[in-house]
Amino acid sequence: MTLETQKNNPYRTASYVISAHTLKQLPPDSGFEVAFAGRSNAGKSSAINTLTDQKSLARTSKTPGRTQQIVIFEIDEERRIADLPGYGYAKVPEQLRAHWRQVMQLYFNQRRSLRGVVLVMDIRHPLREFDEQMLNWCSVSGVHCHALLTKADKLKRGPAQATLLQVRKRLPRGATAQVFSSKSRAGLAELIARLDGWYGFTTMVNINDEQQGPMK
Ligand code: GDP
Repeated sequence: MTLETQKNNPYRTASYVISAHTLKQLPPDSGFEVAFAGRSNAGKSSAINTLTDQKSLARTSKTPGRTQQIVIFEIDEERRIADLPGYGYAKVPEQLRAHWRQVMQLYFNQRRSLRGVVLVMDIRHPLREFDEQMLNWCSVSGVHCHALLTKADKLKRGPAQATLLQVRKRLPRGATAQVFSSKSRAGLAELIARLDGWYGFTTMVNINDEQQGPMK
């Protein structure tokens, strides 16, 4: 990350607010909320930690599917990040899975402050079944969606760009996509610029900042 990006990153102030088991426990539905969604192990917690420049704000874990809560982080009085439960983990009992599908559907339908969803996908396994479901909910609810293709450091630049193009073709109209790596921080400036738009911050970073160098 360049010094410029670090200085202009308003997400560094993010702090933990609550782990909500039900929608009623969420903070009041005002201001701006952006949700991070993704299959377990896609790299969602790492992406939130990279974005906020904090080592362990969101918990990274080798035991996917552990958390079944909506975790809220506050950036300022008006702006929040919602870390949605990771999905697609085989060992979660069907009953719990069905329960969370219902909670998510209600969240998308009812949450007025929801401005956009960052759909975190491992660049090597994009657009699986639950990802498609998430895209569908975004389309139906008229919520912006930005696909974050993480772990891009695991691919060479050529294959990473090819996947990006393929994903862009398959996304619904209006949805956007980018490559990202929590390990190298590639794509961070682009993510910040996208979020700044959704949160109503004035974009101050140059999104080309970090797109120059090779992924690997
Ligand atoms: P989550 O379940 O979606 O929150 O995924 P985590 O953030 O816990 O990441 C799952 C695993 O992938 C962890 O072992 C992370 O260290 C690893 N990981 C996450 N992001 C990256 C990345 O950008 N590059 C690489 N190489 N590994 C990553």
